[in-house]
Amino acid sequence: MAAPYTPPVEDMLFTLEHVAGWREGNKVLSDKLPQEDIRSILEESGSLAAGMIAPLNQASDRAPSAWREGAVSMPPGWKEAYGAWAAAGWNGIALPEEFGGAGMPVVLGTATMEMLTSACMAMGTLPVLTQGAVEALHAHASEELKQRYLPRLVSGEWTATMDLTEPQAGSDLGALRTAAMPAADGSYLLRGQKIFITYGEHDLTENIIHLVLARLPDAPAGPKGISLFLVPKFLLKADGSPGARNDMHCAGIEHKLGIRSSPTCSMVYGEMQGAVGWLVGRPNEGLACMFTMMNKARLATGLQGVAIAERALQQALAYAHERRQGRLPGSDESTPIIRHPDVMRNALTMAAYTAAARAIAYRAAAEIDRSAQAEDAAARNQAALYAGLLTPMVKAFATDAGVKVASLGIQIHGGMGYVEETGAAQHWRDARIAPIYEGTNGIQAIDLVSRKLMRDGGTGLAALLAEMQLVAQSAQAANEHRFGAMGERLAEGIAACERVRTWLVQPGRDLRLALAAATPSLRLFATVLGGALLAKGALAARQLDPAGAHPAHARRIGIARFYAESIVAGAQGLEQAALGSAQTVIEAGTLFD
Ligand SMILES: Cc1cc2nc3c(=O)[nH]c(=O)nc-3n(C[C@H](O)[C@H](O)[C@H](O)COP(=O)(O)OP(=O)(O)OC[C@H]3O[C@@H](n4cnc5c(N)ncnc54)[C@H](O)[C@@H]3O)c2cc1C
Repeated sequence: MAAPYTPPVEDMLFTLEHVAGWREGNKVLSDKLPQEDIRSILEESGSLAAGMIAPLNQASDRAPSAWREGAVSMPPGWKEAYGAWAAAGWNGIALPEEFGGAGMPVVLGTATMEMLTSACMAMGTLPVLTQGAVEALHAHASEELKQRYLPRLVSGEWTATMDLTEPQAGSDLGALRTAAMPAADGSYLLRGQKIFITYGEHDLTENIIHLVLARLPDAPAGPKGISLFLVPKFLLKADGSPGARNDMHCAGIEHKLGIRSSPTCSMVYGEMQGAVGWLVGRPNEGLACMFTMMNKARLATGLQGVAIAERALQQALAYAHERRQGRLPGSDESTPIIRHPDVMRNALTMAAYTAAARAIAYRAAAEIDRSAQAEDAAARNQAALYAGLLTPMVKAFATDAGVKVASLGIQIHGGMGYVEETGAAQHWRDARIAPIYEGTNGIQAIDLVSRKLMRDGGTGLAALLAEMQLVAQSAQAANEHRFGAMGERLAEGIAACERVRTWLVQPGRDLRLALAAATPSLRLFATVLGGALLAKGALAARQLDPAGAHPAHARRIGIARFYAESIVAGAQGLEQAALGSAQTVIEAGTLFD
């Protein structure tokens, strides 16, 4: 049996308040939400996730959602659990108030989504898409479409999908072929096939709203000829309720390694008269509209890495305290394996990556809040710049962390991790998709070095590094024995980041070399950023608990120190991999020709 899930409410609160610093420069939202209210929100949401949703996770991996003649049936208990989650208002917690949402900070929505996803990642993928669609429609759709669709998407009564991928168009969306013909009444008729559409079909709600990328007849080739359409499964009657079935169906679902109850659907549009849809945004600007949704989904996918890492960590710690093997030096008694230094190292590595990934994800969400809510325009622009830089880092670093942590979780279980009974293997299988979808992690690294850094000549990253440097200096100046070499390792890591940043933005830099260096560069920046954020938390923990009497603060300091001394310590290796091997990649890579 898999271990139960305990929402890490205290760690989340601490990260929100002392690491992500969500209140800084965000007076409007901050004044509305005292810490006690945030605690109640997290506890309430966590209690539903742990009590009703987490128990479904393992069973729905063993007997997943199933396709039959175009319909997809979800596992037992899912309709009630999803219904309870949506009815409690969690889907709309950070969505616009004018359409029924609670208008809370994105960072708070992020924390509640973490708990749903830890409880059951396969269920957590559903609101990611609905929430992203709400944002895209809110930003780009006509008033009429907003009024008709947003209230029920915000409430979660209906769900949404993101229909990009086609057999020949994966990372390269410019290759997509689904066609949209204008109809006389201002709607469009779509024809084409989409694959890998998450929750393209299911029986949890009475309607499903698809956001589909397609081409108009006169559209230019490539990414500049793509438009976005809203295509409902059931067309709406005049009173707004679902009416006639649209011309689309689910031709099958994939059999997958993990998230086996998140149906991955092949969707066929317009086999008969054409699937009726409505244009969202302007013709041929669909990719830009979809990016509103994709940016949100990238943060949410990074958060899946955090969530699964937390679940795997809890599972591994429970097992490591229970399982006895071997003796400690000088003892005759068999010991719980958590006392063996090598197991301790694995557990610390898991905890450290989990905390660092959470810190980066919450910081990114806090920047999104600041980019909308900060009082002056300069602060809003700076926050938007940071949010842009952090999004690919969250997506790639946190999802890689999820896989690594889940894999270490299996290791801690020994053979029992490799058999399905304990549930440790499921976490790893579930985690493995997150580095792939929503733009593979390679594409995220390319986005970071070739768009985000080039756009401002690296000045945004330089500002972030300067902020991290202040944290490293404070850690060094604290003269605190519990910090060990944390400040020094961070300072070295930041210096490595600065050398790589300078190299990447050097005028005339050969783009091929920058692309070859992209993945280790992103890893370096995010790894060291994670260390700086944990150190910031350690400094706060020391201030809150100077005598070291509070175990949770002691743990935070220990984890930040371990992360710096063990993981940030690898920064020079990542620097070497980025700068030292870029040319080699270009030369030796041709060996496969
Ligand atoms: C379970 C699951 C759920 C999904 N859900 C959805 C969904 O809801 N909606 C949707 O539209 N899609 C969805 N997808 C599709 C997913 O987003 C794509 O699989 C992903 O974008 C990668 O595309 P691809 O599979 O075609 O791989 P490819 O694009 O063929 O990539 C293969 C490899 O080549 C690399 N690569 C490709 N192009 C480049 C480049 N220019 N430079 C460097 N490296 C490159 C990639 O990083 C990758 O390692 C889902 C996929 C899965 C498996």
